[in-house]
Amino acid sequence: MRALLERLLVSSTPARRVLLAVGASVPFFLLMGVVHRQAAREPFMAAALNVGLVEATQWLLLLACAINLLVGLWLWPHRDAGAPCPGSTLVVCVNVGAAYTLVAVLSGPYTSPPSIVLIGILLVGVLLFEPAPLRVAALLCTLGLVGHDVGVLAGWWPYAPALREALFDDPVAAAAWQGWRTLVFVVGGAVLMALGGLLFARLESLHRQLDALSHTDPLTGLANRRRLMEALEAEVARRRRTGQAFCLVLMDADHFKRVNDTWGHLQGDAVLCALGQVLMAGVRSPTDLAARIGGEEFALLLPDTGLEEAEAVCARLRATVARQRFGDPLAPFTLTVSMGGAVCEAGDARQALREADQQLYLAKALGRDRVCLRRVQGAV
Ligand code: GH3
Ligand code: MG
Ligand code: MG
Repeated sequence: MRALLERLLVSSTPARRVLLAVGASVPFFLLMGVVHRQAAREPFMAAALNVGLVEATQWLLLLACAINLLVGLWLWPHRDAGAPCPGSTLVVCVNVGAAYTLVAVLSGPYTSPPSIVLIGILLVGVLLFEPAPLRVAALLCTLGLVGHDVGVLAGWWPYAPALREALFDDPVAAAAWQGWRTLVFVVGGAVLMALGGLLFARLESLHRQLDALSHTDPLTGLANRRRLMEALEAEVARRRRTGQAFCLVLMDADHFKRVNDTWGHLQGDAVLCALGQVLMAGVRSPTDLAARIGGEEFALLLPDTGLEEAEAVCARLRATVARQRFGDPLAPFTLTVSMGGAVCEAGDARQALREADQQLYLAKALGRDRVCLRRVQGAV
């Protein structure tokens, strides 16, 4: 269900969405047209309905069908193109909204179930389309309903122009009408509830995407600085609660500028991705966190990790990078990294960052391609 939703709402092209709306509306319009026609043929309903208006409605529904089908035919060859199709979207939204508003108004908008279907249709629009065409359609529907009310208050037309008094006097007609209303009401309500569920699922999926985007480094796919800072704050709080030390390591590629200058920026980016892979593969998942926090600077957050363990992890990662061959297999090159870390038994996030940074600076000053770690102790 979730995969289908993602395919429908995220991966599909704008043209496919309009085609979906066309495909869903045409059978509904045809069904309504047929039911109205059938009702107008029954003598007891013919007396209870304003048959002229009902027939005019059928023709209008057919016209709406034809317009939607034409838009569908025109869009069909473009269904895989990613380009937006504002004109077609607007025509279909307005067409569908106007058709349902017409049916709702003619049968009494506040006591007839088509209003529920109309709300459902607008919900589908929210799901499928950009806000602009939908706003136009919603405005036109509202104008239709307000115009109806004004006309009723002014005495220009009755509340439900398609219905006659006989509908409520004749018990058979009243029962048939009530049955049809109940059916539309139940189906409309079910559709509405399903759409509500879809809307919430869509919102949840968007929220997850946004959360992932705002916490991920786009180049390497590692966590970004924001995610690291959140995790670091959480780790400091956990250390205060449990007394378990954690380790923060900063890693910087040595002479990375030379890589860019010699092999180009694209190759430099590929090296950064490879470094990210080494980090991701080299730490405990999911407890440890590997992040890219700047150009060629990375960080590791290792919860519940003492000095010896941290030294072992860093030494292994440093050696893995030093062994790795980067670039073209025919002309490979090597790269080293410097690492500085703080095993925090005390202090806050700022202190952890400061201490790790000082150790990184020391590793660079001592000649690069090395690891410098120290314990941070003292009053909390
Ligand atoms: P050091 O050993 O002192 O760290 O030397 P360095 O050359 O690595 O350090 P410096 O800070 O002078 O240069 C870092 C370089 O990283 C400069 C910049 O062009 C490169 N860089 C930063 N971000 C990116 C990136 O996203 N992609 C690529 N390809 N290069 C980047
Ligand atoms: Mg560097
Ligand atoms: Mg740097």
